[in-house]
Amino acid sequence: MSTILLEIVTPDRLVYSEQVNSVTVRGVEGELGILPGHISFVTPLQIAPVYVKVGNEKTPFAVQGGFVEVRKDKIVILAESAERATEIDLERAEAAKERAETRLHAKGRQDEVDHRRAELALQRAMNRIKVRHN
Ligand code: ATP
Repeated sequence: MSTILLEIVTPDRLVYSEQVNSVTVRGVEGELGILPGHISFVTPLQIAPVYVKVGNEKTPFAVQGGFVEVRKDKIVILAESAERATEIDLERAEAAKERAETRLHAKGRQDEVDHRRAELALQRAMNRIKVRHN
């Protein structure tokens, strides 16, 4: 089975760097399976799990938006934050989810920017919870 180098990078750290058989991401236009030899492209990502396949093992990562860049020699996922399932603190994600929900359900006038921010925080928290439970 052919492989390609996958790097998952955030401003803080290199989260992952391995030879992989395939990567599945959720781009803005939907799910995308990427195999070695794919043509080069760049596309924004949704806040969603990324699944990495090496042999028979499928490893999920919580990737909070960003971009995927597919090149001849490697695939780079660049995101504000990304975690491997085993790195995710479930209690922290549950707390973040509750905070975001409380903000979204708060009565009265709400700043549009604050509302959008709470929606994104909720998506990040739900993404982490999903990947942690995978
Ligand atoms: P919180 O409100 O809990 O900080 P957040 O969604 O605002 O969550 P981010 O700004 O996306 O957090 O991430 C800040 C840093 O904390 C990143 O390094 C990210 O990987 C890490 N991080 C955030 N939530 C978790 C979690 N539940 N488990 C492990 N690491 C986390």
